[in-house]
Amino acid sequence: MSLWKHYHLPQSVEEAVELLGRYDGQARVVGGGTDLILEMQQGHTPPVEALVDLSRVPDLGRIVEEGPYLVIGAGVTHTQIVADPRVARGGTCLAESCGVIGGPQVRNVGTLAGNIAHALPAADGTISLLALGGEAEIASGRRQAAESKVVRQWKPLEEMFLGPGKSAIDSTRELITRLRFIPTGPGEGSAFKRVMRPQGVALPMINMAVRLKLDEAAERVLSARVTIGPAGPTPFLATQTMDFLSGQLAAPETFAQAAKVALGEVHLRTSRHRATDEYRAEMVRALLPQTLAKAAERARTQRSGPGEVGELV
Ligand SMILES: Cc1cc2nc3c(=O)[nH]c(=O)nc-3n(C[C@H](O)[C@H](O)[C@H](O)COP(=O)(O)OP(=O)(O)OC[C@H]3O[C@@H](n4cnc5c(N)ncnc54)[C@H](O)[C@@H]3O)c2cc1C
Repeated sequence: MSLWKHYHLPQSVEEAVELLGRYDGQARVVGGGTDLILEMQQGHTPPVEALVDLSRVPDLGRIVEEGPYLVIGAGVTHTQIVADPRVARGGTCLAESCGVIGGPQVRNVGTLAGNIAHALPAADGTISLLALGGEAEIASGRRQAAESKVVRQWKPLEEMFLGPGKSAIDSTRELITRLRFIPTGPGEGSAFKRVMRPQGVALPMINMAVRLKLDEAAERVLSARVTIGPAGPTPFLATQTMDFLSGQLAAPETFAQAAKVALGEVHLRTSRHRATDEYRAEMVRALLPQTLAKAAERARTQRSGPGEVGELV
């Protein structure tokens, strides 16, 4: 049985939304297809009448500055993100995570929007964009009188996930058009780390990302965003750890203590293909202080090219 009958390459968001509306739940959005096609082949996602490929929508293939935001189109690949100096500078953790997703072939076609729409708790790009305080723009069709109209709405990333592999957006009826975040500025830095098996399945044993803002003296943490995956059914925002860090000295003792707070709020599981819960806990204890220290160093020095994200084990 074929996995789809028709393959559409719309030239605009309006056309993409119109196509989804026409198929009335029987079509599905595809980005690079690196997750979706495997999922369909393996029977985890049902066959569809049509795929709606966003890669020919010109506006969605770019990274642009809009007001305070850096805006990443849904067609932007991991390779494009890694190559963009504005992301390297203002969203270093995102450049680091997109730079280790799969191999070059996967990064050349796989998109950050697809990474987010797939809604896995340890998806690397997702974990970093969540730490940066990212948002997603959702486009859907609304019928008004006889006309159908495209409605676009920005939502915080944390509202995009319902459970493992369960997105709050229905990719058969609506689409992520753009993603955005406010780049780190003076006194701010971010960092990402993960532990991955060299030839392992597509997701890490554990990953984490941090965005830190320091005070003027660069001594204390003004605010922090910390994410860890997989540490629950959805990409995990470690709010207790964030609250703990606020106002503390940006120093190794604080960062070690923050890892203890994080261990009190994460929900780590043993997964047959990746790691035991004990191993994951040990990695949070070891890697979170390092990730915090790297973000603090970047906040102090403002030297923020992507670095080494972790070891293969
Ligand atoms: C060999 C291999 C290695 C990998 N390694 C990693 C890794 O290290 N880390 C990691 O995080 N991931 C990894 N992945 C998973 C995958 O490559 C990424 O999640 C990628 O970012 C998915 O993007 P995509 O554009 O290919 O999504 P697709 O496969 O096109 O789509 C994924 C899902 O999102 C939906 N979707 C896509 N775009 C949109 C949109 N704009 N709006 C609404 N819904 C949309 C689709 O309908 C589908 O349900 C790997 C995959 C492979 C095959």
